[in-house]
Amino acid sequence: MLPVTPQFDGACHILATLRAAGYEAYLAGGCVRDLLLGREPEDYDIATSARPEVVLDMFPRTFAVGAHFGVVLVAHEAEPGQPEAASHKPTEVATFRSDGAYSDGRRPDEVRYTLSAEEDVERRDFTINGLLLDPLRGGGPLEQLLADPEQLQADVIDHVGGVADLRAGIVRAIGRPERRFEEDHLRLLRAVRFAARFGFSIEPATHAAMRHLAHRIHAVSRERVRDELSKMLTEGRARRAFELLDDTDLLVQVLPEVSRMKGVAQPPQFHPEGDVWVHTLLLLEQLEPGCPLTLAWGALLHDVGKPPTFRVVERIRFDGHVEVGMAIGTEICRRFRFSNDETRQILALIQHHMRFADAGRMKASTLKRFFRLESFDQHLALHKMDCMAASGNLDHWRFVRERYEAMPEEEVRPAPLLTGRELIAAGYRPGPQFKEMLHAVEDAQLEGAVTTPEEALRWVTERFGGAG
Ligand code: ATP
Ligand code: MG
Repeated sequence: MLPVTPQFDGACHILATLRAAGYEAYLAGGCVRDLLLGREPEDYDIATSARPEVVLDMFPRTFAVGAHFGVVLVAHEAEPGQPEAASHKPTEVATFRSDGAYSDGRRPDEVRYTLSAEEDVERRDFTINGLLLDPLRGGGPLEQLLADPEQLQADVIDHVGGVADLRAGIVRAIGRPERRFEEDHLRLLRAVRFAARFGFSIEPATHAAMRHLAHRIHAVSRERVRDELSKMLTEGRARRAFELLDDTDLLVQVLPEVSRMKGVAQPPQFHPEGDVWVHTLLLLEQLEPGCPLTLAWGALLHDVGKPPTFRVVERIRFDGHVEVGMAIGTEICRRFRFSNDETRQILALIQHHMRFADAGRMKASTLKRFFRLESFDQHLALHKMDCMAASGNLDHWRFVRERYEAMPEEEVRPAPLLTGRELIAAGYRPGPQFKEMLHAVEDAQLEGAVTTPEEALRWVTERFGGAG
């Protein structure tokens, strides 16, 4: 049963205020869908007949956001003695509108306000997202409404058949699918995301239109495509999302490098599960809701170097797939405008994913440097998924995890015994060799061969010759 959150309560308060002033107002879109599914909505959106300038005047704390789209953010008023209300997300209040023609596949050329809630619903994307709710209709306590699915459903205003589709588990475009996807190509990815998130199917005519128009996704900015894909990867239904992307021909458009994994065979002794695509899907299946973005993309791309390096020399080999994968990963991260930090981590996950098998043979210094990788827990998580998606043998993962968890931070990153300053004091002349010396002596330190500054300096003298 859903609780009455301050968020929900605040939205109902706004509705009541708008109603008292003589306007029509409803909860609209994703929040109604989520309430009917018994899920806690991320945020509450309101649709109203009141014009933005009226909404701006009606509430003490408002911000005009999408001026063009008639959207006003209304901050929740603090209850007496509850100053923290300011931290609650504001509610989006949007004036009923019908979007004009779309000429660029992204945004309506003009927005017309309307007094008709039905028209407002018709410009929305999918029937399950086109529902309105009047939570004040019954007049009873809100707790009771949320506790009673029948009451909730009775208070829904459904102009588009969204309730039946929600019940049947169907994502269906409102109106003519072809036209709706032509208007706004981002809807292609949104359809996949909602179908995956809720485990719904895509209605056949909607699906056919998606396949037909998949190539038009390139008109959408790469950041927006990236954000949709990232949501799909981190909402806990990534496998389903990527199967649907493939099924609707969107995958080959947005990530041809991943699409190429299909049918690329692997040696059955290491990969009894099947080809590179099947293996990748089995990793995606393990991504948990809310998992780090970089881990999710790392899982998707860790074997992206395999298709171009496939060779059969006695057995199937993918020599150099890590390096090739990093090059492809670099291009994908650039294309999708990932930040430098995100790119670095995604590439590191590709780069190091094969190293766990060698961990038992690593020198102590190598193992400790391995542990120093940023967000090492993501490397561990990726390796575990990689094993689970293949043989299921977790021996290497266990070995590394146990050592990683047992090793105190001061052993992984001990304070250096020597720095450039000491080398200079000992009479060495600063130069490019300093770096090499310091790296070598740090290795010796990590291996326990030297434990004091004096020993370290002696070690350097023996290895690199005396100063001067
Ligand atoms: P989420 O849970 O991911 O936030 P949502 O359904 O709330 O899903 P939003 O992007 O927050 O999606 O948009 C809110 C509502 O606005 C949608 O439910 C839908 O009615 C409408 N909407 C959003 N984007 C589009 C679009 N591209 N085309 C048509 N309607 C849209
Ligand atoms: Mg939303």
